[in-house]
Amino acid sequence: MIKWIKDQISSRKTLDSKMYMIVLIVGTFANLASFIITCVEKLEFAAILSTFLCFATMAVFWYMTVAKDMERHLHMPLMVVTIFGLLPLAWFFCGGIHSGMLLYFLGCLFLIVPCIVEARKRVILFAVSLIWIMAILFISTIVFPNLITPLSDREWYLDVMMAMAVCAAGIFAITTLVVDAYETERKGREQLLKEMETLAKMDALTGLYNRRELFERLEGADAGSDVYIIMVDIDNFKKINDTYGHLFGDKALKSVAGVLKDNASKDGEFAARYGGEEFVAVIRCANAAGAAKRAEEIRSRVFKTEYEEYPGLNISVSGGLVHAADHENITSALSKADELLYKAKQSGKNRILD
Ligand code: GH3
Ligand code: MG
Ligand code: MG
Repeated sequence: MIKWIKDQISSRKTLDSKMYMIVLIVGTFANLASFIITCVEKLEFAAILSTFLCFATMAVFWYMTVAKDMERHLHMPLMVVTIFGLLPLAWFFCGGIHSGMLLYFLGCLFLIVPCIVEARKRVILFAVSLIWIMAILFISTIVFPNLITPLSDREWYLDVMMAMAVCAAGIFAITTLVVDAYETERKGREQLLKEMETLAKMDALTGLYNRRELFERLEGADAGSDVYIIMVDIDNFKKINDTYGHLFGDKALKSVAGVLKDNASKDGEFAARYGGEEFVAVIRCANAAGAAKRAEEIRSRVFKTEYEEYPGLNISVSGGLVHAADHENITSALSKADELLYKAKQSGKNRILD
């Protein structure tokens, strides 16, 4: 039973939907408890009948919610029926102001906020309900005090205790749910934001940094004298696409990206996809000879990569290598690397010039 109730609440996705279920559950138990108490205490038949009617109404809501799947249409009706029908009925038959009914009214007013999402409907229902409750108070205490079926002191005591317990448990459950839901959502949003920030930096196909992140990193990094920039472009890539298909072209891009990623092994080194089949590797080397050696390693590893679908196929890159410190800014360093890359293409490809 408890598991079924828990499932009913947790299977609901929106907060107002969960609230509706809690109201239904608390309302059903409260009415069932009142009905049992009126029977045990052997109150007037009218009191027993009214508490039974309240309980039966809740049963109808359960039926429409679970069997007929009409929950989304029932939020407002449940609140309206409870505030304007069930509670006044119980109020007149179960002791009015000299009972726990006022607590139930207050509890119910509290529930309007989480149960009704639409702000305008919520405000109207709250205002009308408040006026309605005050009118009932006025009528039942000043105008027609005889309409109230009084409770004995013992009944009053029991009723107030029960109302306290039901309302307190309801408010506790709801505030817990709201606070927990807020926390879960906040954490989820934070996580999502982090993931999106990471994704925004990456190139989806190759998993390297994208062009924007490349500039951010190059501009943000300390341009120490050991920073070298290698720009490479796959040779005859259009032909590779045309001959072996775009899917294989993508695979070749990933493979070249893999070489660049593996190469970026030192602190402050990284690689990025600069354009379609152009990449930039930022490396740290003590001198130009060391940098040229690293560039040559990249070229040769790309060239030696085996593609199982096409044994014997060699894919090559051409590129340019520049020393960042020799240039005024990142843009001029990259444009010099691009110029060298162009020269490498002109002079036969499969080479990295410095
Ligand atoms: P070069 O040796 O002078 O660099 O010639 P190229 O054929 O490599 O250069 P070109 O600029 O003529 O062609 C680049 C091709 O890269 C054209 C474009 O369709 C392809 N390309 C760009 N991005 C992608 C991608 O993400 N996947 C695939 N499969 N192809 C891409
Ligand atoms: Mg190319
Ligand atoms: Mg190109």
